[in-house]
Amino acid sequence: MKRIVIVGAGASSLALVATLQLEAKTELDIVVLEQNTKVGRKLLATGNGRANLSHRAISLAHYHGGIDQKIENILLNFDAVAFFKRCGLETKYQQDLLYPRSEQATSVVACLSSFLDHVHVYLDTQVLDYTYQNGYYTIKTTLQDFKADWLVLATGSQAGELSGTQNTMYRLLKEKGYTMVPLSTSLVPLETQKTYPQLKGVRIKGTFTLYDGKRTMRQEKGELLFTEYGLSGIAIMQLSRAVSLSPKELAIEIDLFDDFSETELITLLHQRRTLSPDVFFKGLLPMKLAVLFEKQYAHLSNEALAHLLKHWRWSIKGTRSFKQAQVMAGGLSLKEVNADLESIKEKGLYVIGELLDIDGDCGGYNLHFAFACGYHVGKAILQKELL
Ligand SMILES: Cc1cc2nc3c(=O)[nH]c(=O)nc-3n(C[C@H](O)[C@H](O)[C@H](O)COP(=O)(O)OP(=O)(O)OC[C@H]3O[C@@H](n4cnc5c(N)ncnc54)[C@H](O)[C@@H]3O)c2cc1C
Repeated sequence: MKRIVIVGAGASSLALVATLQLEAKTELDIVVLEQNTKVGRKLLATGNGRANLSHRAISLAHYHGGIDQKIENILLNFDAVAFFKRCGLETKYQQDLLYPRSEQATSVVACLSSFLDHVHVYLDTQVLDYTYQNGYYTIKTTLQDFKADWLVLATGSQAGELSGTQNTMYRLLKEKGYTMVPLSTSLVPLETQKTYPQLKGVRIKGTFTLYDGKRTMRQEKGELLFTEYGLSGIAIMQLSRAVSLSPKELAIEIDLFDDFSETELITLLHQRRTLSPDVFFKGLLPMKLAVLFEKQYAHLSNEALAHLLKHWRWSIKGTRSFKQAQVMAGGLSLKEVNADLESIKEKGLYVIGELLDIDGDCGGYNLHFAFACGYHVGKAILQKELL
């Protein structure tokens, strides 16, 4: 019986195992090697423990890196709702975001893990190296050596890892001469030059524009969270990739009144001037923001204040570290793999998930990509097995 060794037991790997088990006509010899002491550790932490599995509108426009036609095919050929139904997991859309019906990531891991029953899973086992000789792979680990006909690398990235950098596979592939696009944080909070620790915990809705000097780089509408070191929240995280990759100092303008034109806001402020200074701000803004604005900007004219409320400019110092990032941009260049995500240089070696040079926006796009890769490669390997 031919053996498939999969390195990593995260989102892409678990989807691959489920696909192999669901679609195979005969028994397969599958080995999963995972450095952690449990499977799906990162998956459990996704979506604040709720796992935002996918998005209703999957399109290439929400992905970055070496995107190409094969990636579009992989993304669009994967039906997350149907796949999870087959895995025994009921799902639901909240607006356009797909979640497990239970709203618990543990349900996702439980359903996917059920396919590991007839798989040899080695936990606490880190893969250190692999070699290819006489038609099969030898995989060197901290436990023992394993042999495989097919080797799948599904080791993700170090984003969000609190236990330290674990991008061993990225380094290994680089040593083996693969083109690796440099890693940088994405979907990560931002540190600002000036901070307002007193605003920590305040959430606002608005429109946020990232500027390189006067040039608009990207604009996001949504939620922002003030922190002691700067800015966070989904809308800010969406802007963070561009900050990570830019060598220049960038700035973000916060529009606190995106439902008002500047002229309409001037009129509103003018009407409110009959109120006491205290009520003027506290009836207009969330409390901690009102206190700050009253202290610092009470002297401004209606015109100047309206401009500030619509163009509150923050100079960006940089991003937080990979520990606070949701994904890493960069990874194995897509030029190194064929349409089945099989290495062009090494036959029978597949690379899936975040280890590839693809990262998505917030909103379920990253998990969708990881699951779609696992599904796609599972089908590709089975097709070859039948030949
Ligand atoms: C806090 C947080 C929240 C997130 N929330 C969402 C969300 O709601 N929706 C969304 O779409 N995306 C989310 N993401 C991103 C998403 O989790 C990842 O993009 C996705 O898990 C990548 O899947 P993967 O299979 O490539 O890697 P992973 O899921 O990271 O799995 C890789 C596995 O490989 C193991 N491994 C690594 N190296 C080795 C080695 N040398 N030997 C053996 N094992 C190894 C790792 O321990 C790990 O278990 C979130 C990320 C974080 C950090």
